[in-house]
Amino acid sequence: MRRLILALPFALLPLAIAQAADEHDHDPQHASLAPHEHGIGRLNAALDGQTLELEFDSPAMNLLGFEHVASTAQDKAKVAAVRAQLEKPLALFGLPSKAGCTVASQELNSPLFGDKPDVDDDHDEDAKDADGHEHHHDHSEIHAHYQLTCATPGVLEHLDLANLFNTFPATQKIQVQLIGPSGQQGVEVTAKAAALKF
Ligand SMILES: [Zn+2]
Repeated sequence: MRRLILALPFALLPLAIAQAADEHDHDPQHASLAPHEHGIGRLNAALDGQTLELEFDSPAMNLLGFEHVASTAQDKAKVAAVRAQLEKPLALFGLPSKAGCTVASQELNSPLFGDKPDVDDDHDEDAKDADGHEHHHDHSEIHAHYQLTCATPGVLEHLDLANLFNTFPATQKIQVQLIGPSGQQGVEVTAKAAALKF
């Protein structure tokens, strides 16, 4: 399907945004310090020869509908379902089968996936105040990092994120940093204009 690339709202994003978000920090208390806005995800996509690298960072809210560690069976089932969706990047990122992409490696990280904080876990940020209200800093992110090998990368003229928006409808927009044959660009995509050109 061809799309009118000129119809897309282009917005150049400062590189600092993507770089600031590029900390692979598995500590939920540190992760909580990263400002994030619900509804907005970030994607770094780099196509270099046959290698397509995708880094998707999202507030857990966009994918799960909550950002606390799952304790109920219902929440745990939701976490498992979201993990399963993230483990299928070819479908999730709408990569055409004729591009012949296979997953070389993938890594999912989130405090909500049971990743243990590796440092500072003796700092209790969940202290209750006099009212008994818990002061959680419970913004949580989900990070997904994929390396794909595509036999026919020339077919990848576009990256169409429509299925990502369909799969996670709480996602309103995705700030994309794209590096491809035509250089680097910052693009903001929405469900209504979900395709971008490499
Ligand atoms: Zn949040």
